[in-house]
Amino acid sequence: MSTSLLYHGFGIRGYRHTRTEYVEGRVLMWIEQARDELRCPQCGSADVTRKGSEVRRFHLVPIGSKPVSLVFPVPRVACCHCGGVRQVRIPFAWERRTYTFAFERYVMDLSRHMTIWDVARHLGVGWYIVKDIQKRYLTRRFARPKLKSLRQIAIDEISIGKGHRYLTVVLNLATGAVVFVGEGKGVEALTPFWKKLRRSRARVQAVAMDMSPAYIAAVQENLRGAVIVFDHFHVIKLFNDRLANLRRDLQREATELLHKKVLKGTRWLLLKNPENLDDRHRERERLEEALRLNKPLATAYYMKEDLRQLWDQPDKATAERFLQSWIDRAQTSGIRMLQDFAKTLATHRSGLLAYYDYQISTGPLEGTNTKIKLLQRQAYGFRDMEFFKLKIMGLHETRIALVG
Ligand SMILES: [Zn+2]
Repeated sequence: MSTSLLYHGFGIRGYRHTRTEYVEGRVLMWIEQARDELRCPQCGSADVTRKGSEVRRFHLVPIGSKPVSLVFPVPRVACCHCGGVRQVRIPFAWERRTYTFAFERYVMDLSRHMTIWDVARHLGVGWYIVKDIQKRYLTRRFARPKLKSLRQIAIDEISIGKGHRYLTVVLNLATGAVVFVGEGKGVEALTPFWKKLRRSRARVQAVAMDMSPAYIAAVQENLRGAVIVFDHFHVIKLFNDRLANLRRDLQREATELLHKKVLKGTRWLLLKNPENLDDRHRERERLEEALRLNKPLATAYYMKEDLRQLWDQPDKATAERFLQSWIDRAQTSGIRMLQDFAKTLATHRSGLLAYYDYQISTGPLEGTNTKIKLLQRQAYGFRDMEFFKLKIMGLHETRIALVG
């Protein structure tokens, strides 16, 4: 083992390699610093005297499958210039860390494909060291995202874990990057985001989100002038929820056994997009039978299929007429559920039609949600919420494996 291998192999320069030991399957490389290399860490003066040392160990990249440690008696120096007595500065590691920069880079490379546990086992270190490296990397990269250039964003909440825990996620629609993760849902979860946004002086033009009154108020208050675009998937989902309730009510009220039977088990068929109905399981036939026997259900179902066209109109003016005609038909349908929904749409008219000014949705957040669900499998996800949030903010990059 030589001083030059130390430099070329392990990125340690300016030290003398003194000896190598093999202890319990581990390679220990001892180094020392020449007396004339000693500098005061405070003022940089070379006019120092040595005052003992403290032996410290640092993880180096392994040789093959053998873990390697650097053993360095770190000198303490008394400075004649500024009078301080301190440990000299170590240029190959972060302060108070037990691994070298080269080791850190190697861990990040492995993290691309391996879980924290796998990396830790492979390198013969505790998993908290690997986690610490990942967390510090993520913090440097993502803890303070640049918000200044934000123009179009999507806001949505996702449920995490088993209980009713939520995170509110803000996505930069231009880059696909998560720029904020708030704990909880609703107005409070977003409060820190508005603060950061104000400080960044970003000029957000449009926001895609669902029709929740809390978000609407918060966006109107904090993003004056930004256009709200109600996400079409959420609108259809809301309609589907109401449709499921209608079916349940009808099934309960159905007096004939046949009716009951036909309605039973059609819930999923009603919620499916017709192009996704599976003919092998007679789904189309069963759905049509249920619709034939239940006029209100049929009306509501076809009104939903109709509503989906709202986002496929050639221009805003046509869409506006389309929406009005839908609302009119719903109101005269005699079906309470449709009448209520028409009211909801009428109240949110401008945000629905705003889609024709900004063709955005919270759709890109769906992919992020799927990945977050994968992240959740990590047990430590909730023990260290900060780490979990950072991982979410790093999702659009592939430097770190999703599991682990
Ligand atoms: Zn000094």
